[in-house]
Amino acid sequence: MPGKVYLVGAGPGDPGLLTRRAAELIAAADVIAVDALVSKDITSSFPPAAEVVYVGKRASAHTLPQEQINLLLVEEAMKGKTVVRLKGGDPFVFGRGGEEAEELVAAGVPVEIVPGISSSIAGPAYAGIPVTHRSYATSLTLVTGHESDESTGIDWPVVARLQGTIVFMMGFGNLSMIVRKLMENGMPAQRPVAVVSKATTREQRTIAGTLSNIEARVAEANLATPALIVVGEVVKLHDVINWFETKPLFGKRIVVTRAREQASELKKSLEDAGAQVLQFPTIEIAPPESYDSLDRVIDALTDYQWVIFTSSNGVRSFFDRLHEHGDDARSLAGVMVAAVGESTAADLRARGINPDLVPDKFQSTALLPLLEADQKGIRTAVIRAAEGREELIEELRRRGGEVDLGVAYRTVAADYDIEELRKLIDDKAIDAVTFTSASTVDHFFGRLSADERSKISARAILASIGPTTTEAIRRFGRGPDIEAKNATIAALLEAVTSALAGASVKTSS
Ligand code: SAH
Repeated sequence: MPGKVYLVGAGPGDPGLLTRRAAELIAAADVIAVDALVSKDITSSFPPAAEVVYVGKRASAHTLPQEQINLLLVEEAMKGKTVVRLKGGDPFVFGRGGEEAEELVAAGVPVEIVPGISSSIAGPAYAGIPVTHRSYATSLTLVTGHESDESTGIDWPVVARLQGTIVFMMGFGNLSMIVRKLMENGMPAQRPVAVVSKATTREQRTIAGTLSNIEARVAEANLATPALIVVGEVVKLHDVINWFETKPLFGKRIVVTRAREQASELKKSLEDAGAQVLQFPTIEIAPPESYDSLDRVIDALTDYQWVIFTSSNGVRSFFDRLHEHGDDARSLAGVMVAAVGESTAADLRARGINPDLVPDKFQSTALLPLLEADQKGIRTAVIRAAEGREELIEELRRRGGEVDLGVAYRTVAADYDIEELRKLIDDKAIDAVTFTSASTVDHFFGRLSADERSKISARAILASIGPTTTEAIRRFGRGPDIEAKNATIAALLEAVTSALAGASVKTSS
């Protein structure tokens, strides 16, 4: 029994534009044969079990010849496998999907086509250009620009007479020829033209002009491929509707140092604001070396007047452990609960505990002025990481209190790609670095040389979530450029946005 080959469109780049059907098939595939045009955001979430074959390198000589791709698809399917042939955009729009489907049918291999969102339509849309519009264009023509002067399937006199929108694909390297052919064949020099590079990705750039000046403008802009050439009156709407490239953090490259498991909210909010997020998870959250101290606290919960949580991780690990004991939130009945930081408080509320005390600052010592000056006869449990700060505990003891530490987790160095980071530093490619705890600072700066640290802070905004994190940055001899108003992702995002939006980069060194 042969398997099946699915010719699947992966969309133009933005992973949000992958169809549900495509995602479903990718998740279930035995073999994924993928084009170079498919974005890294999509290839990075392939299931580990699938065998992935990269069959194309864009605009280079290393492309697997089409006959070999066809052969591979047939062979794998004949072995009974489920094969996903994943292509950029839509498989039947200049994707050679038609040829592959013909071969498969000829070989008796069952085949299904899963259309994708084509860059020819989505690219202009992300540039604020509707490909049709009642006032400007009543037709859309897709043309290959992969042509030489001699070879030609294109009827230039006809194309040049079109009044509607024309999108040239694979034509960026031939921009001069395209412009020349259109004008030679009578298209007015004032006809608007846009080139959209890396459409729908965080690196999208659009250059707009007219047939007469587009070449000069593009040459100046040093655009990267893949790129589309859009010709027609609709291009005028780019200035009006341009919604994507005008997001507040668009084009900004922002490093997130937070542990991967915790970074999703920050990553998502930065991306929603248009930023390109570079994840270097410097730390990982690990279970404590021993649960003894936490277990002692859990077993004696009702003996405490106060239980203090200093982080979301602490809340999570505490409750996980509590549940392992067969207990639940009711064990905290009658105990006063304090939370350091708004998100710690939110995590408690999500578990049915409304904290009695939340200081304004994300700093454990900010609790001190709010707790009783005389701690005699008061028992407190502090739930935190193994490597947390001691000031709070020491001060409560100094006031006569009895304090137990419940070690709920530990932060350990994570193994991120330091070479990739070094390259970004050398390329001056980082606009901001976000730090969400002192340990992210230590593990980020700790692995870099003094010279590399200087290079980063000369150019990038250093953003701290709160005072303890700020102090950690100071210990490396630098100040953060911004500190969030309170310890929430929203406040951090707001601080980063107001520091970066509009402003290009730091000028001081
Ligand atoms: N099947 C694809 C097109 C493949 S041909 C689709 O439907 O989108 C390859 C050409 O598509 C490139 O040369 C370029 O012109 C265009 N293209 C694909 N992805 C693009 C992107 N993200 N930004 C700009 N152009 C893109």
